[in-house]
Amino acid sequence: MSMFQRTAIALARSPGVGRAMRAMAARTSLAARFVGGADVDAAVRTAARLREAHGIRASLFYLGEYVDDPEAIELNVAQALGACRALALAGLDVHVSVDPTAIGYMRDDALGRDNARRIALAARRTVGLGRDWMVLDMEDSSIFDRTCALHRELLQAGLPAGLTLQAQRRRTPQDLVWAIRQRTSLRLVKGAFPERALDHAGRARIDQAYLDAASIMLSREALESGFQPVFGTHDDRLAGAILELARERGWPPEAFEFEMLYGVRPDWQLALRRLGYNVRVYLPFGGDWWPYAVRRVGENPRNAWLLARTLTSD
Ligand code: FAD
Repeated sequence: MSMFQRTAIALARSPGVGRAMRAMAARTSLAARFVGGADVDAAVRTAARLREAHGIRASLFYLGEYVDDPEAIELNVAQALGACRALALAGLDVHVSVDPTAIGYMRDDALGRDNARRIALAARRTVGLGRDWMVLDMEDSSIFDRTCALHRELLQAGLPAGLTLQAQRRRTPQDLVWAIRQRTSLRLVKGAFPERALDHAGRARIDQAYLDAASIMLSREALESGFQPVFGTHDDRLAGAILELARERGWPPEAFEFEMLYGVRPDWQLALRRLGYNVRVYLPFGGDWWPYAVRRVGENPRNAWLLARTLTSD
Protein backbone atom coordinates (compact mmCIF):
# COMPACT_ATOMS: atom_id res chain seq x y z
CA MET A 1 0.00 0.00 0.00
CA SER A 2 1.43 3.40 -0.98
CA MET A 3 2.09 6.27 1.44
CA PHE A 4 -0.63 8.26 -0.38
CA GLN A 5 -3.19 5.48 0.13
CA ARG A 6 -2.25 5.17 3.83
CA THR A 7 -2.75 8.93 4.29
CA ALA A 8 -6.15 8.75 2.59
CA ILE A 9 -7.24 5.87 4.83
CA ALA A 10 -6.12 7.79 7.95
CA LEU A 11 -8.22 10.78 6.79
CA ALA A 12 -11.17 8.50 6.10
CA ARG A 13 -11.00 7.16 9.66
CA SER A 14 -10.54 10.52 11.42
CA PRO A 15 -13.79 11.19 13.34
CA GLY A 16 -13.12 14.96 13.55
CA VAL A 17 -12.53 15.44 9.82
CA GLY A 18 -15.42 13.10 9.08
CA ARG A 19 -17.86 15.16 11.18
CA ALA A 20 -16.78 18.40 9.54
CA MET A 21 -17.08 16.91 6.06
CA ARG A 22 -20.50 15.35 6.66
CA ALA A 23 -21.74 18.78 7.69
CA MET A 24 -20.77 20.01 4.21
CA ALA A 25 -23.03 17.30 2.79
CA ALA A 26 -23.08 16.56 -0.90
CA ARG A 27 -22.02 20.05 -1.97
CA THR A 28 -18.31 19.28 -2.12
CA SER A 29 -16.51 18.35 -5.33
CA LEU A 30 -15.35 15.14 -3.73
CA ALA A 31 -18.85 13.98 -2.74
CA ALA A 32 -20.28 15.01 -6.10
CA ARG A 33 -17.66 12.96 -7.93
CA PHE A 34 -18.07 9.65 -6.10
CA VAL A 35 -21.52 9.76 -4.43
CA GLY A 36 -24.75 9.61 -6.42
CA GLY A 37 -26.84 11.75 -4.05
CA ALA A 38 -27.42 12.74 -0.44
CA ASP A 39 -30.69 10.79 -0.32
CA VAL A 40 -32.56 8.13 -2.24
CA ASP A 41 -34.46 10.55 -4.48
CA ALA A 42 -31.27 12.26 -5.59
CA ALA A 43 -29.62 8.86 -6.19
CA VAL A 44 -32.55 7.68 -8.33
CA ARG A 45 -32.38 10.92 -10.33
CA THR A 46 -28.67 10.24 -10.97
CA ALA A 47 -29.47 6.65 -11.98
CA ALA A 48 -32.23 7.81 -14.35
CA ARG A 49 -29.92 10.39 -15.94
CA LEU A 50 -27.18 7.79 -16.56
CA ARG A 51 -29.70 5.36 -18.02
CA GLU A 52 -31.26 7.92 -20.31
CA ALA A 53 -28.08 9.64 -21.47
CA HIS A 54 -25.78 6.63 -21.81
CA GLY A 55 -27.73 3.42 -21.24
CA ILE A 56 -25.69 2.85 -18.05
CA ARG A 57 -27.54 0.93 -15.32
CA ALA A 58 -27.07 1.41 -11.58
CA SER A 59 -26.91 -0.52 -8.34
CA LEU A 60 -27.83 1.68 -5.38
CA PHE A 61 -25.87 1.32 -2.16
CA TYR A 62 -26.73 3.18 1.05
CA LEU A 63 -23.57 4.38 2.78
CA GLY A 64 -23.59 2.70 6.18
CA GLU A 65 -21.36 -0.24 7.09
CA TYR A 66 -20.36 -2.35 10.13
CA VAL A 67 -23.13 -1.27 12.52
CA ASP A 68 -24.49 -3.07 15.57
CA ASP A 69 -26.87 -0.45 16.91
CA PRO A 70 -30.48 -1.60 16.25
CA GLU A 71 -31.63 1.85 15.11
CA ALA A 72 -28.72 2.25 12.70
CA ILE A 73 -29.38 -1.26 11.33
CA GLU A 74 -33.06 -0.47 10.77
CA LEU A 75 -32.15 2.80 9.07
CA ASN A 76 -29.82 0.95 6.67
CA VAL A 77 -32.57 -1.57 5.88
CA ALA A 78 -35.20 1.14 5.45
CA GLN A 79 -32.92 2.97 3.00
CA ALA A 80 -32.38 -0.19 0.93
CA LEU A 81 -36.14 -0.86 0.90
CA GLY A 82 -36.78 2.77 -0.05
CA ALA A 83 -34.26 2.44 -2.90
CA CYS A 84 -36.10 -0.66 -4.23
CA ARG A 85 -39.43 1.19 -4.17
CA ALA A 86 -38.06 4.36 -5.77
CA LEU A 87 -36.22 2.45 -8.52
CA ALA A 88 -39.37 0.48 -9.39
CA LEU A 89 -41.45 3.69 -9.48
CA ALA A 90 -38.90 5.30 -11.81
CA GLY A 91 -39.06 2.29 -14.15
CA LEU A 92 -35.40 1.39 -13.55
CA ASP A 93 -33.82 -1.96 -12.61
CA VAL A 94 -34.53 -2.70 -8.95
CA HIS A 95 -30.88 -3.30 -8.18
CA VAL A 96 -29.35 -2.67 -4.77
CA SER A 97 -26.05 -3.68 -3.19
CA VAL A 98 -25.96 -4.58 0.49
CA ASP A 99 -23.22 -5.18 3.06
CA PRO A 100 -24.31 -7.98 5.45
CA THR A 101 -22.59 -6.12 8.31
CA ALA A 102 -24.81 -3.11 7.65
CA ILE A 103 -28.11 -4.95 8.03
CA GLY A 104 -27.72 -6.92 11.25
CA TYR A 105 -24.89 -9.47 10.99
CA MET A 106 -22.79 -7.48 13.47
CA ARG A 107 -25.49 -8.04 16.08
CA ASP A 108 -27.27 -11.30 15.39
CA ASP A 109 -27.21 -13.58 12.32
CA ALA A 110 -30.97 -14.24 12.46
CA LEU A 111 -31.66 -10.50 12.35
CA GLY A 112 -29.28 -10.10 9.39
CA ARG A 113 -30.96 -12.99 7.53
CA ASP A 114 -34.46 -11.58 8.11
CA ASN A 115 -33.41 -8.16 6.92
CA ALA A 116 -31.73 -9.59 3.80
CA ARG A 117 -34.98 -11.44 3.02
CA ARG A 118 -36.98 -8.23 3.39
CA ILE A 119 -34.73 -6.43 0.91
CA ALA A 120 -34.60 -9.32 -1.55
CA LEU A 121 -38.42 -9.55 -1.44
CA ALA A 122 -38.60 -5.85 -2.28
CA ALA A 123 -36.27 -6.45 -5.23
CA ARG A 124 -38.47 -9.25 -6.60
CA ARG A 125 -41.09 -7.96 -9.01
CA THR A 126 -44.02 -9.96 -10.33
CA VAL A 127 -43.00 -9.12 -13.85
CA GLY A 128 -39.23 -9.27 -13.46
CA LEU A 129 -36.86 -7.68 -15.95
CA GLY A 130 -34.23 -10.36 -15.23
CA ARG A 131 -31.99 -7.55 -14.05
CA ASP A 132 -33.52 -6.96 -10.62
CA TRP A 133 -31.17 -8.12 -7.88
CA MET A 134 -30.16 -7.58 -4.33
CA VAL A 135 -26.42 -8.20 -4.55
CA LEU A 136 -24.51 -9.10 -1.39
CA ASP A 137 -21.17 -7.32 -1.17
CA MET A 138 -18.28 -9.41 0.16
CA GLU A 139 -16.52 -8.03 3.20
CA ASP A 140 -13.63 -9.51 5.22
CA SER A 141 -13.10 -13.20 5.98
CA SER A 142 -14.94 -13.03 9.33
CA ILE A 143 -18.25 -12.80 7.44
CA PHE A 144 -17.37 -14.79 4.31
CA ASP A 145 -19.02 -18.15 5.16
CA ARG A 146 -22.16 -16.48 6.50
CA THR A 147 -22.50 -14.33 3.37
CA CYS A 148 -22.21 -17.39 1.10
CA ALA A 149 -24.71 -19.33 3.24
CA LEU A 150 -27.13 -16.40 3.11
CA HIS A 151 -26.81 -16.24 -0.67
CA ARG A 152 -27.70 -19.94 -1.00
CA GLU A 153 -30.65 -19.65 1.37
CA LEU A 154 -32.11 -16.68 -0.49
CA LEU A 155 -31.69 -18.35 -3.88
CA GLN A 156 -33.29 -21.53 -2.59
CA ALA A 157 -36.24 -19.41 -1.43
CA GLY A 158 -36.60 -18.14 -5.01
CA LEU A 159 -35.38 -14.65 -4.18
CA PRO A 160 -33.23 -12.56 -6.55
CA ALA A 161 -29.97 -12.68 -4.60
CA GLY A 162 -26.59 -12.03 -6.17
CA LEU A 163 -23.15 -12.43 -4.63
CA THR A 164 -19.73 -10.80 -4.87
CA LEU A 165 -16.58 -12.95 -4.86
CA GLN A 166 -13.01 -11.72 -4.58
CA ALA A 167 -10.51 -12.99 -7.16
CA GLN A 168 -7.60 -12.49 -4.77
CA ARG A 169 -9.03 -15.14 -2.42
CA ARG A 170 -7.43 -18.48 -3.27
CA ARG A 171 -10.66 -20.45 -2.72
CA THR A 172 -12.73 -18.45 -5.24
CA PRO A 173 -12.52 -20.99 -8.12
CA GLN A 174 -14.12 -23.63 -5.84
CA ASP A 175 -16.83 -21.20 -4.71
CA LEU A 176 -17.64 -20.43 -8.32
CA VAL A 177 -18.40 -24.04 -9.20
CA TRP A 178 -21.71 -24.03 -7.29
CA ALA A 179 -22.63 -20.50 -8.27
CA ILE A 180 -22.32 -20.92 -12.03
CA ARG A 181 -25.01 -23.62 -11.98
CA GLN A 182 -27.53 -21.18 -10.49
CA ARG A 183 -29.67 -18.50 -12.01
CA THR A 184 -27.81 -15.85 -10.07
CA SER A 185 -25.84 -12.70 -10.63
CA LEU A 186 -22.22 -13.03 -9.58
CA ARG A 187 -19.94 -10.03 -9.39
CA LEU A 188 -16.22 -10.75 -9.54
CA VAL A 189 -13.93 -8.12 -7.97
CA LYS A 190 -10.20 -8.13 -7.24
CA GLY A 191 -10.81 -7.76 -3.48
CA ALA A 192 -10.41 -4.92 -1.01
CA PHE A 193 -9.64 -6.85 2.20
CA PRO A 194 -6.26 -8.53 1.62
CA GLU A 195 -5.36 -11.27 4.09
CA ARG A 196 -1.96 -12.86 3.75
CA ALA A 197 -3.00 -16.36 4.84
CA LEU A 198 -5.97 -16.60 2.46
CA ASP A 199 -5.11 -14.58 -0.60
CA HIS A 200 -2.94 -14.31 -3.66
CA ALA A 201 -0.44 -11.49 -3.25
CA GLY A 202 0.94 -9.06 -5.83
CA ARG A 203 -0.77 -7.36 -8.75
CA ALA A 204 0.30 -9.87 -11.43
CA ARG A 205 -0.94 -12.90 -9.46
CA ILE A 206 -4.22 -11.24 -8.54
CA ASP A 207 -4.81 -10.21 -12.16
CA GLN A 208 -4.11 -13.78 -13.31
CA ALA A 209 -6.48 -15.12 -10.63
CA TYR A 210 -9.12 -12.67 -11.88
CA LEU A 211 -8.75 -13.96 -15.43
CA ASP A 212 -8.85 -17.60 -14.30
CA ALA A 213 -12.07 -16.93 -12.37
CA ALA A 214 -13.53 -15.01 -15.33
CA SER A 215 -12.82 -18.01 -17.53
CA ILE A 216 -14.87 -20.24 -15.18
CA MET A 217 -17.69 -17.66 -15.19
CA LEU A 218 -17.73 -17.63 -18.97
CA SER A 219 -17.87 -21.42 -19.35
CA ARG A 220 -20.47 -23.04 -21.61
CA GLU A 221 -22.11 -24.60 -18.54
CA ALA A 222 -22.59 -21.12 -17.04
CA LEU A 223 -24.07 -19.79 -20.27
CA GLU A 224 -26.61 -22.62 -20.39
CA SER A 225 -27.66 -22.28 -16.73
CA GLY A 226 -28.83 -18.64 -16.95
CA PHE A 227 -25.96 -17.49 -14.75
CA GLN A 228 -25.26 -13.74 -15.07
CA PRO A 229 -21.55 -12.87 -14.89
CA VAL A 230 -20.65 -9.40 -13.71
CA PHE A 231 -17.08 -8.13 -13.94
CA GLY A 232 -16.54 -5.52 -11.26
CA THR A 233 -13.32 -3.88 -12.37
CA HIS A 234 -11.92 -0.64 -13.81
CA ASP A 235 -8.98 -2.51 -15.31
CA ASP A 236 -9.26 -2.10 -19.08
CA ARG A 237 -6.54 -4.62 -19.79
CA LEU A 238 -8.47 -7.30 -17.90
CA ALA A 239 -11.74 -6.22 -19.52
CA GLY A 240 -10.14 -6.59 -22.96
CA ALA A 241 -9.10 -10.17 -22.17
CA ILE A 242 -12.60 -10.92 -20.81
CA LEU A 243 -14.24 -9.60 -23.98
CA GLU A 244 -11.97 -11.82 -26.04
CA LEU A 245 -12.93 -14.87 -23.94
CA ALA A 246 -16.64 -14.02 -24.15
CA ARG A 247 -16.45 -13.77 -27.95
CA GLU A 248 -14.57 -17.07 -28.28
CA ARG A 249 -17.11 -18.85 -26.05
CA GLY A 250 -20.20 -17.44 -27.81
CA TRP A 251 -21.50 -15.19 -25.01
CA PRO A 252 -23.84 -12.54 -26.44
CA PRO A 253 -23.04 -9.02 -25.11
CA GLU A 254 -26.39 -8.77 -23.31
CA ALA A 255 -25.66 -11.89 -21.20
CA PHE A 256 -22.91 -10.36 -19.04
CA GLU A 257 -22.00 -6.94 -17.71
CA PHE A 258 -19.21 -4.76 -16.42
CA GLU A 259 -19.72 -2.86 -13.18
CA MET A 260 -17.65 0.08 -11.98
CA LEU A 261 -17.84 2.50 -9.10
CA TYR A 262 -19.73 5.72 -9.80
CA GLY A 263 -17.22 8.43 -10.70
CA VAL A 264 -14.33 6.05 -11.36
CA ARG A 265 -13.09 5.81 -14.96
CA PRO A 266 -16.23 7.31 -16.54
CA ASP A 267 -14.26 7.45 -19.83
CA TRP A 268 -13.95 3.67 -19.82
CA GLN A 269 -17.60 3.20 -18.84
CA LEU A 270 -18.68 5.22 -21.88
CA ALA A 271 -16.21 3.48 -24.18
CA LEU A 272 -17.65 0.07 -23.26
CA ARG A 273 -21.19 1.36 -23.80
CA ARG A 274 -20.27 2.68 -27.22
CA LEU A 275 -18.97 -0.79 -28.08
CA GLY A 276 -22.41 -2.15 -27.13
CA TYR A 277 -21.60 -3.79 -23.78
CA ASN A 278 -23.69 -3.62 -20.61
CA VAL A 279 -22.28 -1.28 -17.99
CA ARG A 280 -23.60 -0.77 -14.48
CA VAL A 281 -22.33 1.65 -11.87
CA TYR A 282 -22.25 0.96 -8.17
CA LEU A 283 -23.96 4.13 -6.98
CA PRO A 284 -23.57 5.03 -3.30
CA PHE A 285 -25.91 7.50 -1.64
CA GLY A 286 -26.45 9.02 1.80
CA GLY A 287 -24.88 11.52 4.17
CA ASP A 288 -21.99 9.36 5.39
CA TRP A 289 -19.96 9.96 2.24
CA TRP A 290 -16.58 10.99 3.65
CA PRO A 291 -14.87 7.62 4.41
CA TYR A 292 -16.12 6.13 1.15
CA ALA A 293 -15.03 9.06 -1.05
CA VAL A 294 -11.61 9.44 0.58
CA ARG A 295 -10.90 5.73 0.07
CA ARG A 296 -11.60 6.25 -3.67
CA VAL A 297 -9.08 9.12 -3.70
CA GLY A 298 -6.50 6.88 -2.05
CA GLU A 299 -6.83 4.37 -4.89
CA ASN A 300 -5.56 6.87 -7.42
CA PRO A 301 -3.19 9.78 -6.71
CA ARG A 302 -4.64 11.58 -9.75
CA ASN A 303 -7.73 12.25 -7.61
CA ALA A 304 -5.66 14.17 -5.01
CA TRP A 305 -6.69 17.55 -6.44
CA LEU A 306 -10.33 16.79 -5.58
CA LEU A 307 -9.40 16.13 -1.97
CA ALA A 308 -7.29 19.30 -1.81
CA ARG A 309 -10.15 21.36 -3.26
CA THR A 310 -12.65 19.91 -0.78
CA LEU A 311 -10.40 20.52 2.23
CA THR A 312 -9.57 24.10 1.24
CA SER A 313 -12.12 25.99 -0.80
CA ASP A 314 -15.37 24.02 -1.36
P1 FAD B 1 -7.10 -1.71 -10.20
O1 FAD B 1 -5.90 -2.43 -10.70
O2 FAD B 1 -7.09 -1.23 -8.79
O3 FAD B 1 -7.43 -0.47 -11.12
C1 FAD B 1 -7.53 -0.57 -12.53
C2 FAD B 1 -7.47 0.80 -13.15
O4 FAD B 1 -8.52 1.63 -12.66
C3 FAD B 1 -6.15 1.54 -12.81
O5 FAD B 1 -5.75 2.26 -13.96
C4 FAD B 1 -6.56 2.47 -11.71
O6 FAD B 1 -5.76 3.64 -11.70
C5 FAD B 1 -8.01 2.81 -12.05
N1 FAD B 1 -8.71 3.11 -10.81
C6 FAD B 1 -9.00 2.26 -9.80
N2 FAD B 1 -9.59 2.93 -8.80
C7 FAD B 1 -9.66 4.22 -9.19
C8 FAD B 1 -10.15 5.44 -8.59
N3 FAD B 1 -10.69 5.44 -7.37
N4 FAD B 1 -10.08 6.59 -9.31
C9 FAD B 1 -9.55 6.60 -10.56
N5 FAD B 1 -9.04 5.49 -11.16
C10 FAD B 1 -9.10 4.34 -10.48
N6 FAD B 1 -14.19 -5.26 -3.03
C11 FAD B 1 -14.51 -6.15 -2.07
O7 FAD B 1 -13.62 -6.68 -1.40
N7 FAD B 1 -15.82 -6.51 -1.84
C12 FAD B 1 -16.85 -6.02 -2.59
O8 FAD B 1 -18.00 -6.39 -2.36
C13 FAD B 1 -16.54 -5.10 -3.63
N8 FAD B 1 -17.51 -4.62 -4.42
C14 FAD B 1 -17.16 -3.89 -5.53
C15 FAD B 1 -18.13 -3.56 -6.46
C16 FAD B 1 -17.78 -2.93 -7.63
C17 FAD B 1 -18.83 -2.61 -8.65
C18 FAD B 1 -16.41 -2.58 -7.88
C19 FAD B 1 -16.00 -1.91 -9.16
C20 FAD B 1 -15.44 -2.86 -6.94
C21 FAD B 1 -15.79 -3.51 -5.76
N9 FAD B 1 -14.83 -3.85 -4.82
C22 FAD B 1 -15.16 -4.72 -3.81
C23 FAD B 1 -13.46 -3.26 -4.87
C24 FAD B 1 -12.49 -4.16 -5.64
O9 FAD B 1 -12.21 -5.31 -4.89
C25 FAD B 1 -11.16 -3.42 -5.95
O10 FAD B 1 -10.54 -3.09 -4.74
C26 FAD B 1 -11.33 -2.16 -6.78
O11 FAD B 1 -12.31 -2.32 -7.75
C27 FAD B 1 -10.02 -1.84 -7.54
O12 FAD B 1 -9.70 -2.89 -8.41
P2 FAD B 1 -9.79 -2.78 -10.02
O13 FAD B 1 -10.29 -4.08 -10.51
O14 FAD B 1 -10.55 -1.61 -10.44
O15 FAD B 1 -8.28 -2.73 -10.49
